[in-house]
Amino acid sequence: MSYDINKIRSYFPVLNQQVYSKPLVYLDSAASTQKPVQVLEAEKRLHNEYYGNIHRAAHYMADKATADFEVVRNQVKLFINASSTEEIIFTKGTTESVNLVAFSFGERFISEGDEIIVSEMEHHSNIVPWQLMAERKKAIIKVLPFNDKGELLIDKLDELITPRTKILTVAHISNVLGTVNPIKEIITKAHQKNVAVFIDGAQGFQHSVVDVKNLDADFYAFSAHKAYGPNGVGILYGKKFWLEQMPPYQGGGEMISEVTFSGTTFNELPYKFEAGTPNITSVIAFGATLDLLQEVGLGNITAWEEKIIKLATNELKKINEVRSYGEASKKSGVISFNHNKIHPYDLGMLLDKTGVAVRTGHHCADPVMQHFNIPGTVRISFGMYTSEEDIALFIQNLKRIITMF
Ligand code: PMP
Repeated sequence: MSYDINKIRSYFPVLNQQVYSKPLVYLDSAASTQKPVQVLEAEKRLHNEYYGNIHRAAHYMADKATADFEVVRNQVKLFINASSTEEIIFTKGTTESVNLVAFSFGERFISEGDEIIVSEMEHHSNIVPWQLMAERKKAIIKVLPFNDKGELLIDKLDELITPRTKILTVAHISNVLGTVNPIKEIITKAHQKNVAVFIDGAQGFQHSVVDVKNLDADFYAFSAHKAYGPNGVGILYGKKFWLEQMPPYQGGGEMISEVTFSGTTFNELPYKFEAGTPNITSVIAFGATLDLLQEVGLGNITAWEEKIIKLATNELKKINEVRSYGEASKKSGVISFNHNKIHPYDLGMLLDKTGVAVRTGHHCADPVMQHFNIPGTVRISFGMYTSEEDIALFIQNLKRIITMF
């Protein structure tokens, strides 16, 4: 495979630095990825040349900014193979996308006694909005469990889905266990019983080719900042069939067609769900991310990251005192682990002092911690720029800390 890791890393100069006089090893991409120069340049170009508020443009700069904003919507559409740009909604992140669907789908389709299935390995962002909706609508949350390897017990869906089940929500890839869930199989199973499916792709989009048409996903959400894009932008894909029937989530400018004090009519899709001025700069700069992903090839990135995760998994296995959580047959993006004596917070802090940036804690997935009866883990996570040297340095420093302890 020809994957030019040095060329890719040259797009991310921030990686080439020392912290505490040690070479930086950035293993926290699941929290947020670093941004390539292409994104920073796109932001600069916009502000130097043509920044203006979008839509309803009455002058050159606003017109150009509007055009570029809509170009990115089309890029996203093509990237995930949606049917139309009406199905691409810009939000501020995956969290807002989940809240939007939980609220709006809930308002239209959920009644007292209806059921929502949430997997046990979800991030809090994909649990709490559904709980809030369930409380409001007097609906019931049911949990799709996973086994100790970190694999969802898909067969349980046969008994979990009842005629009252309206929607099922599941992560594409777990942010703690790294499990790549069989989302196509889950969607097929759910659709056989007329249950809609929401996919939390916050850890999915950047690690695997996403084709919403092939998946037949009803909703797929992800965050630009976890996929080498700027902060403050989320993408929500929703099937037109659902979005057309769902009421607006927030009221304000842009989402209306006409406002009078006797009543308001709403704008067409996707604008019905985009109240107020969006994050113009970040959406436009996200276009540069998509160009980069296209240039490198998401398939190539997936293959490279597979090599990296295998390397790290094998090296960690050689350290007797370390236990990893999540041994699904298909994993991507992250490895969570603990040392049998060192608290994850201490280990994270010590690794930081060696230049290795990791994340520690519950990773906003308390139910996963409860499953394994642990307070937290150390999590290393990868991106397109993670090198074999990064893994070697991480393992070397980890071993040194363990010996010191
Ligand atoms: N879901 C998963 C699986 C995540 O990993 C995250 C981010 N940690 C989120 C949802 C929330 O994403 P954001 O903070 O970008 O809204």
